[in-house]
Amino acid sequence: MEKIAILGAAESGVGAAVLAMKKGYDVFVSDMGHIKDHYKAVLDTYGIAWEEGQHTEEKILDAKEIVKSPGIPDNAPMVAKAIEKGIHIISEIEFAGRYTDAKMICITGSNGKTTTTSLIYHILKNAGYNVGLAGNIGRSLALQIAEGCGYDHYVIELSSFQLDNMYDFRANIAVLLNITPDHLDRYDNDMSKYSASKMRIIQNQKPDDSFIYWADDPIIKEEIAKYGIKAQKCPFSIISKKGMIGYIEKGTYTIEKPTPFNMEQESLSLHGKHNMYNSLAAGIATRLAGVSDKNLRESLADFEGVEHRLEKVATVGGVQYINDSKATNVDACWYALESMTTPTVLIIGGKDKGNDYEAIKELVKQKCVALVYLGADNTKLHNFFDSLGIPTFDTHSMQECMEACVKVAKPGQTVLLSPCCASFDLFKNMEDRGEQFKALVRNL
Ligand code: ADP
Repeated sequence: MEKIAILGAAESGVGAAVLAMKKGYDVFVSDMGHIKDHYKAVLDTYGIAWEEGQHTEEKILDAKEIVKSPGIPDNAPMVAKAIEKGIHIISEIEFAGRYTDAKMICITGSNGKTTTTSLIYHILKNAGYNVGLAGNIGRSLALQIAEGCGYDHYVIELSSFQLDNMYDFRANIAVLLNITPDHLDRYDNDMSKYSASKMRIIQNQKPDDSFIYWADDPIIKEEIAKYGIKAQKCPFSIISKKGMIGYIEKGTYTIEKPTPFNMEQESLSLHGKHNMYNSLAAGIATRLAGVSDKNLRESLADFEGVEHRLEKVATVGGVQYINDSKATNVDACWYALESMTTPTVLIIGGKDKGNDYEAIKELVKQKCVALVYLGADNTKLHNFFDSLGIPTFDTHSMQECMEACVKVAKPGQTVLLSPCCASFDLFKNMEDRGEQFKALVRNL
């Protein structure tokens, strides 16, 4: 029996373990941290050997292949040893991809992945496709395949960490939304390494596959010039329509291929410049998958958006509250601010990932009437923004933050939680941050 080790026992690791077991591997699952009870129960149901709180070297380095959770970096001691020993390390998606012939629609980018993936899934599902959703969202691809879901299309959100350990996997439709600095700590602070990781989405594509990408992104342009693209190129833009498969011009949203489709930009359910890109990418992908005019028009108009992404929470006392807790980098906040149409109180701060706030300085000056810093340590924010002359508030909990917002925001203004930072200094995760914000808004 071939031995396979799984590092990390959360959604992707447990899914991979079950699939490997069903495919006849000798499986061992190891997690340095605590394994959640419901995942332990799944492993036990299938009689899969597991350990937590440690990595037993002999058992792991004995494997022919390792499926590594995307959360574990290459410099983690166990991974480094496996690399040194020459063990093939793959991601769950790479592993699962070996066992299905379904059409793979894969989405990557620094920002917009979840929104675009969810929108594509929504369109295909409404159009009656037998489609599954996987990757960073929902249930793991491996588990769905292990359970014999039998989907003939999968829509898969891929992070750069997943792409790093993918080698033979082929995306029939690949979507690359944008490349802006993020997670550079995992790429030796080298932007070219991070970009190369994103470009792995097109590896193994064939001429009858499609590559959908944002044509105005300077980094994507540079990267494309380096690669021989085999798939059909499907660029989109909101600046120019020349050579584009998808574009927005004079308020009309247009997809050129395979047959022309258009609708009024006004009728799209998602707003803001960034969401125009996401809607174009999703429109091209689903047209290529054969979705009709009627189905596409309906689904682009009735998509409800995704929680924690520019989510309108409520208007209280004439003040609109928006939860964009998922804005964990500066670029995402830029797009949020750009889409604001009323004077804005911006909640910013958290665990800084080496942010350069220069990119949002002008927009902050134009749009913000106050800044509420929300972090364990707000020093960097004080140093950068205090000199702009906009009122600032120093807060260290969501409760304190909301008190400041209520004090400063006037009717007709917007309070926007779009923090530019990770949440782990004060919250469990970005969902927890968004939930706390929404709960307090609803109690106002
Ligand atoms: P991801 O899954 O890539 O993190 P999300 O769809 O969850 O992307 O959105 C993350 C954040 O980025 C949100 O704050 C959202 O408003 C913003 N965003 C969404 N789409 C884009 C885009 N195309 N370009 C830049 N920012 C975006």
